[in-house]
Order: sequence, then C-alpha cells, then structure tokens
Amino acid sequence: MKLARFNGNRVGVVNDQQLIDISDLLPVPPEFWPPVSMIKLIAQFDELKPRIQQAVKERKGVPLASVRLESPVVWPNKLIAYPANYARHGEEMKVFIAATQGPQAVSSGAANTLGFFLKAPSSISGPADPIVLPELPGKQIHHECEMAIFIGKGGRHIPLAEAKSHIFGYACLVDVTVRGQQERVMRKSYDSFTPIGPYIVTADEVPDPDNLDLELWVSGERRQKANTRDLIVNVPNMISMAASVTTLYPGDIIAIGTPEGVGPLKAGDELTITIHGVGSMTLPVVAGKGGSNMAFEGGKAKSA
Ligand code: MN
Repeated sequence: MKLARFNGNRVGVVNDQQLIDISDLLPVPPEFWPPVSMIKLIAQFDELKPRIQQAVKERKGVPLASVRLESPVVWPNKLIAYPANYARHGEEMKVFIAATQGPQAVSSGAANTLGFFLKAPSSISGPADPIVLPELPGKQIHHECEMAIFIGKGGRHIPLAEAKSHIFGYACLVDVTVRGQQERVMRKSYDSFTPIGPYIVTADEVPDPDNLDLELWVSGERRQKANTRDLIVNVPNMISMAASVTTLYPGDIIAIGTPEGVGPLKAGDELTITIHGVGSMTLPVVAGKGGSNMAFEGGKAKSA
C-alpha cells in the first residue's frame, strides 16, 4: 500500500496515479495539532487496515497530480541518520575534507561509520516544498541521496533477526548538508533540509530493502547512483544499532546514509530523487534569507 499525506494533513491511499482520501478513518483528525495523524495510523495500522482496504475498493479517487503532497510523516519522535554509509562516499569525503580543511583534518573522524546522529524533525519537508538554502557565504550546501525507513512496531534491544519486522515502509529522502567543521546536527537541521516523499510504500511491497537502486539528478545531470546492497551498515543493522541505544517508536525515521557523488546545490537548481520500486520526487532549490550565526562567523559571541 502507498500512503500519502496531502492538502493540510489529510491522508490518502495512492492507487494507480489516483489518490483515495481516507482521512475520515484516521484515529486522529487532520485538524489535530501536532500533526500526528499518520503516526497514529502507523501505530494502529493492523487494526485499521481492513477498513482502509474496503475504502480503497469502494471510493472514487482524484488524480494524484491534483493534490499537494506533503511529507508522509512530520513530528516523528526521532529522525535518525547514518553518516558515510557507503565506502566510496567515505573516500570522497576524505578528499573533500583534505581540500577544504587541510590533510590533518582527515583523521579527525569526520567521515566515520561509528554510529548514528540525529537531525531536527523540523527539518522535514515534503515533495511539493522547495529546498531553501540559507545565506552562508563561502559555504557549500550538498545533496545526499538517501532512503527513509519508517518504523512500524517500536521497541528497544531489537535483535538483528527481528529488525525487518519493525519496518513499516520506505520513501525517498534527501539529507541536505552544509559542509564545514561546525556541529553536524546544526549543519543538517535547517528547515527544508530533509525532504521526504512522495509517499510511504509499505514494507510488504518492497521485497528486499538491501537491493534497491537509488538515483539523484540536479538540473538534468545525474550526480548519484547506487544500490543499497553496497551499504556498509545494512538496513537490519541500522535498526538494531539504533534500538541498542534508544527506544524506537512508530513513525520514527531512519535516513540510511549517502553514496558517493554528493555535490553543491545552488538557487535555481531542480533536484530529482528516485528509488526504483519506491518512488520519485522533484524539488526546486531556492535562496532563503538569513541562517548564519556566530558558529559560521569565527565563533565569537556578539553583543545585542
Ligand atoms: Mn547523510
């Protein structure tokens, strides 16, 4: 099943380029704030599924292209991300760090596979939203082509053999990143820096998440292409590692890490991300206002 959020926190099922509105079946109405209707739907999916399937059979849809799609999940308890999760991206980051920060910076662990980090959930944006670049003179802002894993059944200390049973579904995810030595969480947490979409494809429709082709284009030029079989930490290991530290909740999101081919975005670009068997979305890149702070400006506190 393909589950989309659209037109102001409504939820629908995507079926053959049609969208069937099932908002009336949600355990939490679309008007509720914070917007957690999809998360509640994920948490109660087994119980709600028969009514949703019935609605899909009986109701008439509208063309998918006629609605404004939103990120399928907002306000997750956690947005977890794995860094440098393909060997060749680790290598390209060593070259980039040596060129921009000097060769002595390479061994500092900037490109490591030693665990995961968190991004601000408020950095999540949807398939109809632009990527808004902050005003950071001299800084490169890169695209990272990734996949979102949505947690279905929560838990802690999840054994590897059970990890896949905790997956609700998948979507495309771009981990937008300001390059630099400032704290990673800050550089990756600007609003609109985690586009996710176009909708959730439930796990039963993706036979092997460790064998998916991903591609990312910028303004018609293909910058990234990879297969998830080349992940250093594969999908079950990502779930098990995260759950060894923190309780996973329904609707939590894991960004799997990027392959090689990351590169700068500029205002006016158009970014397309495709995961074959999952979906595709195309996003404009625009210039935003502001976004700099003392961390980017020499680290000296200023007076008001
Ligand atoms: Mn990343």
